[in-house]
Amino acid sequence: MRHIKKLVGVLLGLLSIGAARTFLDRYEVLIFDKNDLEEEDEEIGMDLRGTPTHQCICGSNIWYVKAAFENYEIATYFLDMICATCGSLATAPTPVDREGMEY
Ligand SMILES: [Zn+2]
Repeated sequence: MRHIKKLVGVLLGLLSIGAARTFLDRYEVLIFDKNDLEEEDEEIGMDLRGTPTHQCICGSNIWYVKAAFENYEIATYFLDMICATCGSLATAPTPVDREGMEY
């Protein structure tokens, strides 16, 4: 009787392993850590607005700028711009600023 119980236990164990295998074959099991699910903060840029600049403090010179077009050219752009690399806010340069620098 003892041996039969052991045998049944072993068989049930094998069956459950088989069931688990079938389950894992059929479904993808994804395990998430709580920290994985939190949205990763975009690189937090700084507010560098004030002095017009061509280059961000991170070294990038590519910006997201709101602009309007006229006759296939940029006709107007907003002075607030965001660094494409680090997300810092900065002030876009204008021709008027260049005149100010030439003193
Ligand atoms: Zn930057």
